[in-house]
Amino acid sequence: MTVTAAPARGRVLLSSPDVGPREEQLVGEAVRSGWIAPLGPMVDEFEARVADRCGRRHAVALSSGTAALHLALLQAGAGPGTAVVVPTLTFAATANAVVYTGAEPVFVDATEESGTLDPQLLDRALTELREAGTRVAAVVPVDLLGRCADYPALERTCRRFDVPVVSDAAEALGSSLGARPAGSFGESAALSFNGNKIMTTSGGGMLLTDDPAVAARARYLSTQARQPAVHYEHTEVGYNYRLSNLLAALGIAQLERLDEMIGRRRALRRSYVQLFAGVPGVRVFQHPGDQDDNCWLTAVLVDPQTAGWSADDLRAALDAADVESRPLWKPMHQQPVFAGARSFLDGTADRLFATGLALPSGSALTPQQVEVVTDAVLGFLAARR
Ligand SMILES: *Cc1c(COP(=O)(O)O)cnc(C)c1O
Repeated sequence: MTVTAAPARGRVLLSSPDVGPREEQLVGEAVRSGWIAPLGPMVDEFEARVADRCGRRHAVALSSGTAALHLALLQAGAGPGTAVVVPTLTFAATANAVVYTGAEPVFVDATEESGTLDPQLLDRALTELREAGTRVAAVVPVDLLGRCADYPALERTCRRFDVPVVSDAAEALGSSLGARPAGSFGESAALSFNGNKIMTTSGGGMLLTDDPAVAARARYLSTQARQPAVHYEHTEVGYNYRLSNLLAALGIAQLERLDEMIGRRRALRRSYVQLFAGVPGVRVFQHPGDQDDNCWLTAVLVDPQTAGWSADDLRAALDAADVESRPLWKPMHQQPVFAGARSFLDGTADRLFATGLALPSGSALTPQQVEVVTDAVLGFLAARR
């Protein structure tokens, strides 16, 4: 068995899995140990190591980051008749998890500088929701592209309204804010190990909490809510959300390499900063101020008036050179599925979506692939001058 590079060899992808001999070794060990699925010692070890890394007392390994958000929200009390505030600038999973609970997602806009949940607008949203008599079960800040949300300000506001924070740290493992690691914020937090994230279990997630009761209930709900009886007694509807032992083996190997992988993404961020330095109308999103970020994805913001070209022009040129790039998350309030949702907006997310473009940022990029991207960007810029 050999581990091969990502598929679609020709095309340079945004963020493909970065796995090698160490992953192969640990997955092989898991197979040979006979602990294939569902649970096993690798799951326990993976949980302990991630909890330690994120400064949390408990971690529950799950089948996806979405599952982690779903269980965290259920335990925060989200359900029919309640609302949950989420940033409009996020991946749909954040809002979908709210809908799974039966609660209503309410969207709030982002700050210009980091694209994360705007504390001032959150204050306005919570004030108006209270005036409208809406019970808010939770606020879910998202650590966008690996940048931690402004938790000190957001948590202050949430305390005043007595609303718990559930942190969507799906993109942010390895980042920090001040002395605190991503995943340590809020009553509970969700991580994702999807294939395109900073590290992967091919698919998986983790719920992080300091509350032993929350962790225990997450384990129970994620294994079909089985009561401890030989005949499987059920008093509640549960879910099949646990991570398998094989995938946990992959996760342990990836976690050992996390800092090395972050180092490579950070180096790519630095090279993009250099590449676009002095290009009128272009700035690297979240930079400066990214020294504590995991640099999961690097994006540029293009002001077409000043640059004379748009983010979409660059996207098309890169595509022609077989280089993948992608706009920032399309804001949830613009998504047909959430049309008509209550929203508190000031235009920032719309502007970031219109002007932002995420560039290849994966730690598995080879020097040759980086050169392909650099040449494509330089060629595009030269043609536009
Ligand atoms: C990836 C992601 C998720 C969902 O994680 P999955 O493991 O894919 O379910 C949730 N929120 C954000 C912000 C994400 O980027």
